[in-house]
Amino acid sequence: MKIQLLPSTFDRNGCASQEQRLTCFVIDDRVAVDAGSIALGLSDEQHENVRDVIVTHPHMDHMATLPIFIDDHFALLTEPVRVHATGEVIALLERDVFNWTVYPRFSQLKNDHCPVMEYVPFRPREEFRVAHLTVTAVAVNHIVPTVGLIVSDGTTTVAFSSDTAATEEFWEVVNERPDISALFIEASFPNSMGKLAEVSGHLTPEGVAAELRKLSHNRLDVLAVHLKPSYRETLVKELGALGISGLSAMEAGRAYEW
Ligand SMILES: [Zn+2]
Ligand SMILES: [Zn+2]
Repeated sequence: MKIQLLPSTFDRNGCASQEQRLTCFVIDDRVAVDAGSIALGLSDEQHENVRDVIVTHPHMDHMATLPIFIDDHFALLTEPVRVHATGEVIALLERDVFNWTVYPRFSQLKNDHCPVMEYVPFRPREEFRVAHLTVTAVAVNHIVPTVGLIVSDGTTTVAFSSDTAATEEFWEVVNERPDISALFIEASFPNSMGKLAEVSGHLTPEGVAAELRKLSHNRLDVLAVHLKPSYRETLVKELGALGISGLSAMEAGRAYEW
């Protein structure tokens, strides 16, 4: 399984930088997990192949360029862009984003070939298929309805925490899957900002360490993501200082394989 975190920010020379303002992972060049930078960071080939997008929650940094992505492909789509999300999240996207004001309600529009966008609702704790993957979503502890994901291609299984503060059920489900090879866990704020992390439903590096202690896996690659750009340097230092083997900050743009 190949997984990339798409870049979302460009330096003064126009080159992709490691600062991560938007979240979008691409699995096997085909399925997106969240869509923050989907219209900005995909390769040409990925633009042609990604038609399934799992949205963990409706925060802007996780869906900012989804409307632009659909708009870019509008006339040429020969199958809809399928947006997989819980019913709650779909209702929020329809109410607050695809509402004819912020952007068109693409779920009601067709081009010459097909509808351009289709919602595919899923329920937490019920396994569902997305392209070649099987996925289980589990509610996590964020300030809006949000799910973490366990994703398998039949050979390799990985887990995404999405945005969350300290949580329980997600780790219980992760612990039922000893075959998990990699975990993508959020680390938004430095340790000195623990209070803000807590009220905004996020983790600090110390919080990450506390969550990882809930896991029963012996060996797991843990990639920290969602590092707020203003604190990135401090966060990388604090994550390193935890001394947890297998833990590192995920590099945007790099293709990781398991
Ligand atoms: Zn969020
Ligand atoms: Zn976020």
